[in-house]
Amino acid sequence: MYKAKALPGTAALHYDEGMAASDQSYLGAELREAIRDDQLFLLYQPIVSLADGRVLGAEALVRWAHPVHGTLAPDTFIPVAERTGLIVPLGRWVLRRAVRELAGWDTDIVLNVNISARDLREPGFAFYVGALLDAYEISGSRIALEVTESMPIDPAASESTLAGLRALGVRVSLDDFGTGASTLAMLHDVPVDEVKLDRTFTQAVPSERAPVAAAVLQVAGALGLHAVAEGVETRDQADRLRALGYAAAQGFLFGRPMPAADFGRMLERDALTASA
Ligand code: C2E
Ligand code: MG
Ligand code: MG
Ligand code: MG
Repeated sequence: MYKAKALPGTAALHYDEGMAASDQSYLGAELREAIRDDQLFLLYQPIVSLADGRVLGAEALVRWAHPVHGTLAPDTFIPVAERTGLIVPLGRWVLRRAVRELAGWDTDIVLNVNISARDLREPGFAFYVGALLDAYEISGSRIALEVTESMPIDPAASESTLAGLRALGVRVSLDDFGTGASTLAMLHDVPVDEVKLDRTFTQAVPSERAPVAAAVLQVAGALGLHAVAEGVETRDQADRLRALGYAAAQGFLFGRPMPAADFGRMLERDALTASA
């Protein structure tokens, strides 16, 4: 569970499945300091139009610049954060940084930010988001909050936060769509605006006839939801997804997660191409 992905230029760090409770609490203590001392940072991965390649938005993805172990990927520490409750302060740190960086770009793109299913049950979460948007003079329609389908979302306990977000114009996106235990029930019970086709299905597209990718698009269409295909790595996958009717996609083909400054430059280039 704690297999840290060794990122390029970083030392591999392995937190084993059977990692001792004391080590887990050590990591938790370190993470608490990391949030406080701004050891976290965000990378941005473009979300593009499959019709013309224009940048429609980006997804913010958190990293931890660990003082000893180097850059850690989120699957190393998000599970610990979820278990220890640190996911709440971590999520607020991520939102604050994401909205601040978005405010610094001269663009109207939508920024997707990952949140925990737990945030939807936190009283005050929608208020927090609203206060941030006010502080940076960002319209709610510029933010989409991604909740992974792989963690249970409690529809009743999330109702008031979802209504609060809706009132702000903030979109809710169901991440890793199609991999959850009750995919269709979730769509029925939780009002969302967008689904993100999990990369398992995106990447199955060239080999088979892509029944799941096609079916998800139909479901999204019937419910009036945006659909974004995740994990597009090849031109062939992009072409076939476009042929199926997908309008938006994300993946290494279009851009790896990159530092804010690099994404800012990508936006500038994109604006120049559009006006040329
Ligand atoms: P996710 O939200 O589904 O994010 C997409 C993941 O797929 C990212 O991994 C991204 O780097 C990777 N990816 C993007 N395009 C491709 C591709 O073409 N091929 C392949 N093989 N992978 C691709 P990352 O950044 O390691 O994040 C992993 C997960 O950690 C995220 O999955 C999300 O669930 C979670 N996460 C990341 N940032 C945050 C955050 O700020 N808060 C919370 N609560 N969770 C986060
Ligand atoms: Mg996501
Ligand atoms: Mg995803
Ligand atoms: Mg995914």
